[in-house]
Amino acid sequence: RSVETLLHELVRDIPDWPEPGVTFRDITPLLADAEALQAVVDALTELGRSLAGGPIDRVLGIEARGFILAAPVALALGAGFVPVRKAGKLPGPTYAVSYALEYGEATLEMHRDALAPGDRALVIDDVLATGGTVAATARLVGECGATHVGTAVLLELEALHGRDRLAGMPVGALRRL
Ligand code: IMP
Repeated sequence: RSVETLLHELVRDIPDWPEPGVTFRDITPLLADAEALQAVVDALTELGRSLAGGPIDRVLGIEARGFILAAPVALALGAGFVPVRKAGKLPGPTYAVSYALEYGEATLEMHRDALAPGDRALVIDDVLATGGTVAATARLVGECGATHVGTAVLLELEALHGRDRLAGMPVGALRRL
């Protein structure tokens, strides 16, 4: 089965979750399938390599589903893994970026020493929706003086126009919905 088919068959829609009117794309059936897990890790690795077009020093995973995908991609690329976490979770000195959600605000943090100036960082997450999360992560990379070489995700929800918010950034998705 192709990656496209696996994503089609094994990502399930959960209507009205986490709130009425929202359809949540649940990737847990995909993660539970050995063939699919291997296939999407391989495909994200290749996508990341092509977006970066050069060396990749660190792979950033965004809490929490991004962690699951970013660590095996980092191993496959021979790069290190860096967690980007929700506010208050990381123990050391951090950079923090807050961004607007539909209702309210969210904050992401990364350890200040997670990236050295000049490091080339690839970002991995499960879903690109409005793009706020990836935009904030790219700012965290910039705070360190590092370079965001690309973001690779499983699914892009095109109706939410995340790509417009990420104008000029190399972003790729294995499947667009
Ligand atoms: P954005 O900031 O609006 O682009 O939202 C992307 C973030 O929210 C990512 O970290 C995703 O994990 C999460 N997210 C948004 N919608 C979904 C979904 O339908 N399924 C899984 N995660 C989602």
